[in-house]
Parts: sequence; structure tokens; C-alpha cells
Amino acid sequence: MKKIAFITGITGQDGAYLAEFLLNKEYAVVGGFRRLSTPNFSRLDELGITNRIRLVETDLLDTSNLTRIIMEVRPQEVYNLGAQSFVAHSFKNPILTGNVTGIGVTNLLEAIRIVDPGIRFYQASTSELFGQAREFPQNENTPFYPRSPYGVAKLYGHWITINYRESYNIFASTGILFNHESPLRGIEFVTRKITDAVARIQLGKLDHFEIGTLDVKRDWGYAKDFVEGMWLMMQHDVPDNFVLATNESHSVREWIEVCFNYVGKRIVWEGIGIKELGKDEETGKVVVKINPEFYRPAEVESLIGDYSKAKRELGWEPNVRYKELAELMLRADLEKQK
Ligand code: NDP
Ligand code: GDP
Repeated sequence: MKKIAFITGITGQDGAYLAEFLLNKEYAVVGGFRRLSTPNFSRLDELGITNRIRLVETDLLDTSNLTRIIMEVRPQEVYNLGAQSFVAHSFKNPILTGNVTGIGVTNLLEAIRIVDPGIRFYQASTSELFGQAREFPQNENTPFYPRSPYGVAKLYGHWITINYRESYNIFASTGILFNHESPLRGIEFVTRKITDAVARIQLGKLDHFEIGTLDVKRDWGYAKDFVEGMWLMMQHDVPDNFVLATNESHSVREWIEVCFNYVGKRIVWEGIGIKELGKDEETGKVVVKINPEFYRPAEVESLIGDYSKAKRELGWEPNVRYKELAELMLRADLEKQK
């Protein structure tokens, strides 16, 4: 009998890669998607796996819907990847974010507790929990200090998962994942926004793009590496919390430079603050401008993760690093734009 995995957020970046990974491991994959007026399975289509997944209408806001799905699907493993996942959006929609990204976790855990507490549960926690980080690098014992409604909602999701583990003996694990990117990353996230824009500039379809804070730093890894870590956590002897990261931290400015370098352009920076401009050194053309619209009410300045526990206990390590990641995303966007 095939193992059955139920994934919420199947239409998202990680949902698509995790589904592909589990299909390769011979799982039967059931994917939860939100009913929309126009269905969007573009990521699953891009991976060519839409027809190999059983798709079920799922909303994390509706416990009765979740309970029915768990009763009917009877998965061995549930991966909760569904969330309002965009930090900037969470400042504009704090209550929705709290409900979906926070309370939604309890809704799903309740369904599991009621139907079958033997089901294994994975919660998509995040480095945004560390926010205004208290120590560098951050590991599983670093105190949390979230800086956005998204981070606060995820903090709730994180602790309710631990609470259900301790209260009901459910195999409930959290992956504290640092930013992970790919050609399937949502276009509004900064890495993909930049690779998409640089590809279009290179092909003469765009003059310049606008960006927010340039000197914030993130630990960026490759989504395909990270979904393997999720699965490894679910195969472990005991439920636990694990950081997945690359242990490298780079700024948005560096990401822009690496991307332009890849297409043979060197960027020179002029001016300061909102007047700063990025210019193509050769032509003098402005290719990057600052737009304060992209500033956030509270910022996470710098993150870097220590994944040594995952390495030691799960044998997990990232394969793709920062520069290779930027280049593979840019290549994919150049292809798409052609
Ligand atoms: P995406 O934004 O690409 O995907 C989020 C998914 O959640 C989408 O499928 C979305 O559906 C779904 N969703 C939104 N609202 C609901 C709802 N009410 N009910 C059910 N599903 C819903 O995120 P990623 O794939 O990048 O991330 C996966 C998870 O990991 C998320 O929980 C995210 O917060 C977390 N995470 C991500 C990190 C990253 O760097 N990518 C880092 C750390 C944590 P729809 O397509 O209809 O909008
Ligand atoms: P996050 O780490 O989950 O918030 O992922 P994002 O990719 O959305 O943002 C990473 C960092 O890039 C944050 O500190 C943002 O403030 C910063 N940033 C700077 N300019 C932009 C921009 O134009 N868009 C986005 N999304 N982020 C930007």
C-alpha cells in the first residue's frame, strides 16, 4: 500500500516541489487547494504533475472542511504549507493573516486530533520568528522576536504545534525554514522580483525596476533542497523542531549585483536613501530605483541560520548556495521571457 500524504498549500512554491518529491518516493499525494473563480495550478503544471495528484478543495479557515478531508483521505502524513505567506501583505491584512496563518494551524490540528492522532503533522514555521534577531546565527534555541503580523501568526502556529505534541502525543514537528527560493517563487518576493526584472531588462522589455530596502540580509536557500528536509523530519524517530538554512547571509543589493553580473552588466550605485540609483556602468542607464512603497512598517534587518541540528540528526544539508541559486532562477526567467 502506498503511503498517503496530504499537503495544504499545494498551489504554492513548496507545495509543488514537495508533491513532486513525494511522488518520486511513491506516495499517493493529495493536495489541498482553495476554490477560486479561476483555478491556478500553474506550478504543478510547470512540473508536469497536476494529473498525478488528487486535488481537494481545502480552506484552512474551515474546521469542518478539514475534518471531513482528514476523515475521508486518511493520510499518514499531513504537511501544513498553506498560509498567507507574504510579509508585506500581512501588514495590510493582519487579521486575515492571523486567521489563516495562525488559527488555521489549530483548525488542522483539531481535525487530526479528532479523527486520528496517529497522523504525523508538519508545520511550516519560519525564520521570521527570529525577526529582530537576538543572536547570530539563529538556531532552535534562539529566542523569538517576530516583526510582522505574519511573523506573529507563525509564532502562534509554531507553539500550538508544540502544544498538540505535548498535550496529545501527536507526532507534530516544525521546520523553522529560512527563506527558500526557486523559479517557482511568487513574483512579489524580492529574489524572484529581481530575477524577473533583470531578465526583462536584458531582453529589452523593461527599462528599470523599483525596490525597497537594499541592505537587509537574508539566508537564501533552494526550495527543492528544503522540501527534502520537511520529509526527513517526518521520518525521524521523534517529533521535534529543526532549522533549515544555508548558514550564509547576503543583502538584497548583492542579489541585484549577482543577477546583473550574470548577464554581463556591472551595477554602480549613486546617491543615498530614497534617492539612491543603480546604474549600468557601461551605458550609464538607470536600472534600479528606490520606491518607499516597498518599505515595511517594521523590518527584519538580518538573518542567518545554523542548521547543524538538522545535519546531525537528519543528515540534511543544502546543495545549492546563494550564487548558484540566483543564476538558476535568472536562467529560468530568461527562458520564460523569451
Ligand atoms: P506560497 O505563498 O507560495 O504558498 C502558500 C499556499 O497557501 C498557496 O497554495 C495558497 O493558496 C495557500 N493558502 C493561502 N490561504 C489559504 C487558505 N485560507 N486555506 C488553504 N490554503 C491557503 O508559500 P511557499 O510555498 O513559499 O511556503 C510554504 C509555507 O512555508 C508557507 O506556510 C510559508 O509561510 C512557509 N515558509 C515559507 C518560506 C519561504 O521562504 N518560501 C520560509 C519559511 C516558511 P493560493 O495559491 O490559492 O493562494
Ligand atoms: P521575507 O523575508 O519573507 O519578507 O521575503 P521577501 O522576499 O518579501 O523580502 C525579503 C527582504 O527584502 C525584506 O527585508 C524586504 O523588506 C526586502 N525588500 C526590499 N525591496 C523589496 C521589494 O521590492 N519587494 C520585497 N518583497 N521585498 C523587498
